[in-house]
Amino acid sequence: MKVIKVDHIGIAVKSIDETRKLYEEVLGLKYEGSETVEEQKVTTAFFPVGDSEVELLESTAPDGPIAKFIEKRGEGIQHIAFRVENIEEALEELKQKGIRLIDEKPRIGAGGAKIAFLHPKSTFGVLVELCERSDD
Ligand code: ZN
Repeated sequence: MKVIKVDHIGIAVKSIDETRKLYEEVLGLKYEGSETVEEQKVTTAFFPVGDSEVELLESTAPDGPIAKFIEKRGEGIQHIAFRVENIEEALEELKQKGIRLIDEKPRIGAGGAKIAFLHPKSTFGVLVELCERSDD
């Protein structure tokens, strides 16, 4: 498998509206708008930084994964996403190497990217997302 770069860092927040002030007004990043992925009960907002992005994640429901994360650990970094060349190939290879996968098959995330999560039990406590985008 080939990891191309850190695609983005996912940060769980209670409110994108509240948090974006920090990223926009204090850090001077550009807000690229938000997108709700209903199936994952999440609204995401992207802020490009150089070759990577910051992704803010706000839950759309009290039982969504982001709401549960905040309940347990508070707001903060939730996952790191690596962009890969071929996500199906990467998942197959990781599976063969004994890495536990949350998603055996990629699903469609924000921006139409193909994404899949690896289990933190296999990655020393870090929730790792793989993503493949067509704009490479
Ligand atoms: Zn992500």
